[in-house]
Amino acid sequence: LFITFEGIDGSGKSTQSRRLADSLRAKGRDVVLTREPGGSPGAEEIRALVLEGDPDRWSAETEILLFTAARRDHLERTILPALAAGKVVICDRFADSTRVYQGVSRGDLRGMVDQLHALMIGREPDLTLLIDMDPDTGHTRALARKGHEERFEDFGPDLQRRMRAAFLGLAQEFPARVRVIDGNRGIDEVAADVGATVHEALA
Ligand code: C5P
Repeated sequence: LFITFEGIDGSGKSTQSRRLADSLRAKGRDVVLTREPGGSPGAEEIRALVLEGDPDRWSAETEILLFTAARRDHLERTILPALAAGKVVICDRFADSTRVYQGVSRGDLRGMVDQLHALMIGREPDLTLLIDMDPDTGHTRALARKGHEERFEDFGPDLQRRMRAAFLGLAQEFPARVRVIDGNRGIDEVAADVGATVHEALA
């Protein structure tokens, strides 16, 4: 079972993916918890290339290629082997983030994102938990985070609003696998909702 978490910066994806991993492990499931960009040694190197340093180093198109290369490595080295071994894979961000961030934020490049996905990735999650969050709250939370290697922090609340709308658009586009979770609540409440949603999907 391949589960992904998606949402804007500061929506609580990382916390919720850890909580879900803990609760599935407590039920005896073998879980691999991973993240993007990154999730394999090669993909973590590409993450550093993209997220650290001069934000104008790469064009939007090159950045899409780098994210796709990282995802391909992550898929080959981490995700597919774990799924083949019968494990549950929980991934903090996946292709939907590229559809939103690279596909929308830096011009209308969704067509290119989709073509590369079809050619090089071709795998969708079984279940995607979209943690929906008020963009102003998300922005404040993301900014409050210290030591987070983000070139994207100056995205600003306005872009956060567009990103949120784009994520909600994906929920409509892929209704069979995307479930929207209200992230404007306490961690425990959100975790309970996530747990119930996954339980339903597993049944
Ligand atoms: O999820 P995480 O906080 O690790 O993401 C790091 C940064 O990379 C975020 O600021 C996010 O906006 C950005 N990102 C991106 N395109 C992706 C995935 C993440 O711009 N496909």
